[in-house]
Amino acid sequence: MAENAATVADIAKLFNKIKCIISDVEGTTTSLAFVRNTLKSYFLDNLHEHLTKNWDDSELQDILLKTKFETDSSDSISNIEDACSFIIRLSDTEPITYSFRQLQARIWSEGYSSGELKGHLFPDVVPAFKRWSQDGKRIFLYSSGLELSQKLLFTNSIAGNVLEIISGCFDTTVGSKYEPNSYDMILKKLECQPGEVIFFSDSIKEVKAASKAGVIAVIMDREGNLPLDQSAKDMFPVVSSFEAMIEHGFYFEY
Ligand SMILES: [Mg+2]
Repeated sequence: MAENAATVADIAKLFNKIKCIISDVEGTTTSLAFVRNTLKSYFLDNLHEHLTKNWDDSELQDILLKTKFETDSSDSISNIEDACSFIIRLSDTEPITYSFRQLQARIWSEGYSSGELKGHLFPDVVPAFKRWSQDGKRIFLYSSGLELSQKLLFTNSIAGNVLEIISGCFDTTVGSKYEPNSYDMILKKLECQPGEVIFFSDSIKEVKAASKAGVIAVIMDREGNLPLDQSAKDMFPVVSSFEAMIEHGFYFEY
């Protein structure tokens, strides 16, 4: 796995200046397979039953109507079968809309409650985040998954309820992860200067956007992620785990 040791070591030297650590979720704290296979399958497998059980729920109807509006669709959602077909069709299209994500969160919430879903976290995530919290850093998540979905994952993770190590979650209500403005917005909310925040993500587009906003950005190249372009590796430091950051000295020495 690629690791640009020299550059990571340079970043590690900035540890004392860092106030907040922001992490992407899919491909960074959590495997792509969990999001793209486990969560997606659970959603599709339980969609029909969820619609059937909750068809008269006004919140569900509101989500379906908004999803139709956001996707500018002419599909019928007037009965359970039509709504189900509409949502299944959308599940393979990008970008996923905010209301669609609300529907996903409703269904995942049931899976997490029943224990059928357990949020995947790579084994180094909780130890590293705990260590950095003890060092006085605040840890945040920034994902295109809703704040609610992020909280569900960390509350019901394979490592137990670890939500307390997270100071807050950002989702696309602050803007797209590909836009530097979104990181400006986050910096404002955190009341931090750009050099006081570090962002980890497996996405070169996200890392570029964060970097344009002046945020220190590191690429996470997890096992099971899509291969990185050489140009991405040349541009940004790359680590294969948060543990690797600690190995390079990214911690407070007492
Ligand atoms: Mg990602």
